[in-house]
Amino acid sequence: YKGSRIWPGVFIGAFAGNVWAYFSTESIGAILSALAAASLNGTGDVICCVLMARIIAHKTQSSYPFTDIRHYATFCLYGVLIGPLISALFGVGGLTGFGFVALQNAFATLLTWYVGDAVGAMLFAPLLLSWLRSEPFEIPNRNIRLLILSAYSVVVTATLFDLISLTQPHFLLAMLLSPIAFFTLMHNGQRSVFTVQSLVAATAVYATSTNNGPFVSGSNVQSLVELQLFIAAFSLVMFLVAMLVFQQQSNSHQLQLKKNELEELYRRDQLTKAWNRYRITEFIELELARFERTRRPFGIIMLDIDNFKAINDKYGHSVGDSVLVSTSALILEHIREADLLGRWGGEEFIIVITETDKPSLVLLANKIRQLIDKHEFGSCEGITVSLGLTLSRQGDTLMQLIDRADEALYQSKSLGKNQVSTSATD
Ligand code: GH3
Ligand code: MG
Ligand code: MG
Repeated sequence: YKGSRIWPGVFIGAFAGNVWAYFSTESIGAILSALAAASLNGTGDVICCVLMARIIAHKTQSSYPFTDIRHYATFCLYGVLIGPLISALFGVGGLTGFGFVALQNAFATLLTWYVGDAVGAMLFAPLLLSWLRSEPFEIPNRNIRLLILSAYSVVVTATLFDLISLTQPHFLLAMLLSPIAFFTLMHNGQRSVFTVQSLVAATAVYATSTNNGPFVSGSNVQSLVELQLFIAAFSLVMFLVAMLVFQQQSNSHQLQLKKNELEELYRRDQLTKAWNRYRITEFIELELARFERTRRPFGIIMLDIDNFKAINDKYGHSVGDSVLVSTSALILEHIREADLLGRWGGEEFIIVITETDKPSLVLLANKIRQLIDKHEFGSCEGITVSLGLTLSRQGDTLMQLIDRADEALYQSKSLGKNQVSTSATD
């Protein structure tokens, strides 16, 4: 997440965190031995954390390897299996080599060191990274759920580890709730899963260290290894399920995006990006239904570019195309978000104005006519449009509405173009 430049911090942290444990001013040799052992420790940790993180980021091409099974396998191989082994070999090698750990204890020390680092990486890397990045999907009340789930899991773990004792009915209730808790957790996003994982682990560690729970035994080393293996197994299971849930969420999210994209695509005119005839009729049908309920009329403006054939003939078809695109963009700038601009065909557009009245409709139509009259369309001069408008009436059908707007448009054309006309019966 921060890159390789943090290596001095890792080295100093590991060095300073360990040197004091063996430090003694007895002799120069003792001081040098402690410094050397701590340096090996720091070197091992730099290789374990920084180098392995680089390798994982490089191999997965991602700074968050927890959303894909293959990336997680890469993380486990380098971050959990190999990295901590290197760290343990350097650390225990130093301690044994400089006489701080007896040779016969070296293997046990190596084992606890290795498993401890491995479980630490398994728990903390996902926990920290999931809190550093933002959650990819919105979930309502996510934090409240996380709070409840955290409390629940701490209580259940504390009960199982004999830290607290619930009465039989309470415990049964808690157990019965566990499938719901599990299901909720899985759908609350990875940050919640990693947080609960860490809380369960922390509770288990606390219980075992205070001599409670199933992992207490005669030997500290055995308790420690068993506890760590429990945490590792528990984390792995939770983790894999969380990843599957993530992938399912991500798939349905992708599908929804694709669906929206497709829906846009088959409703848009490819040249002008105005809506197409399919979308225009769909929208007018919806407006007609709304008008039936609310009795608030909507308006239709039919717009046709004047002498467009001549423009094509004079400047060429591609200039004609760009006039269509600019006209569409100009109109879009001057209608509301709730209104609709569509290309009815050729050089003919329809504008649907929701919730309006006749004076506003006439005003808007005139505004658009003037706007296009004054606009400079590159090399083309004298581009004008004719418009016909009508207002929805009770009992109207789609075709009746369009026919009225078309008649009005025809009237504008016959009166000399570059005009606005209202349907004769409006
Ligand atoms: P009027 O003023 O009466 O509307 O005359 P007009 O020339 O605009 O109308 P007419 O219907 O005679 O011609 C429309 C022209 O629009 C003919 C056609 O080639 C052209 N056209 C239709 N679609 C496109 C297009 O997508 N791009 C271009 N460049 N031209 C198109
Ligand atoms: Mg025309
Ligand atoms: Mg036409």
